[in-house]
Amino acid sequence: TEQTAEWLQEYVDDWVKFYRKHTNEGNVASYIPLLKEVDPDLLGITIMGRNGMKISSGDIGQQFTLQSISKLLTFIVACMTRGISYVLNRVDVEPTGEAFNSIMHLELNELKKPFNPFVNAGAITVTSMLEGKTSDLKLEPIFELLEKMLGYRPSLNVDVYESERDSSMRNRAIGYYLLEIGFLESDLNITLETYFKQCSIDVTVDDLAKIGVILASDGVDPDTREEIIPRQVARIAKALMLTCGMYDASGKFATYVGVPAKSGVSGGIVAVAPPRVREENLPFLDGCGIGVFGPALDEKGNSIAGIRLLRHIASQWDLSIF
Ligand code: GLU
Repeated sequence: TEQTAEWLQEYVDDWVKFYRKHTNEGNVASYIPLLKEVDPDLLGITIMGRNGMKISSGDIGQQFTLQSISKLLTFIVACMTRGISYVLNRVDVEPTGEAFNSIMHLELNELKKPFNPFVNAGAITVTSMLEGKTSDLKLEPIFELLEKMLGYRPSLNVDVYESERDSSMRNRAIGYYLLEIGFLESDLNITLETYFKQCSIDVTVDDLAKIGVILASDGVDPDTREEIIPRQVARIAKALMLTCGMYDASGKFATYVGVPAKSGVSGGIVAVAPPRVREENLPFLDGCGIGVFGPALDEKGNSIAGIRLLRHIASQWDLSIF
């Protein structure tokens, strides 16, 4: 295994070097003032196998905020605390084909629910389901889940939080609309405060890879064998990632990369390659989690170099679930 790791490492280093050149085709997110300040050329990746193998390359020490990747965690926590049917009775699981913060699909689907937990209308609805009277109490189970998965408690990036809070007209509009139609289960301001804070939790590519490998193992931490996320919740989360995780490019990502993934406008992507029976296999590829960070985004809001790097790796290592 060690030899395999070394051998794979050289490849990954080359691929990161190559795809870093693609960062200049994208742009960093600018609608949250503070996100504009990051170096667009950054690119880093960590791949964690279920067998403990780890490969990291590029700008791996760099911290970045979860942004929309937090929607995955809030959804998991809401399912764990309120129950799956409670959550899914209130938010549907269908892709929209529209941008994450679109006001169009606030017109709700034919079931009169937000389309899915990964568009802002659905995410804000899910956040309002979290228990607790203050935003910090609501966030506590998210931090606890992260601490269990990562082995440390990540911190809130207060500057990004304030920057987003103070430039959040559209999310407030979405929130008011949800309030009007009776979807919010908590006070609007506390819900939005919680939402902006969950988006502003700092992580690294290692952290995303760990989250990914736990999901690849159906919610079990492969290192400790502890079940952190119930299997059924992990399954639904992965189905949502595959169908709605990459904004309105989810179909293309499923086609060309073929694994469940969730991205955020900070340039992070968490990808999950579940174990798969193959005729020929590298032991490493029997399920892994991948964390990528590359803040230059394509027009859909996904890391431009990150997606290309993932596509390359998935095709080289035959990771597609299909
Ligand atoms: N904080 C962001 C927003 O709601 C998250 C967007 C994203 O990462 O897609 O606008």
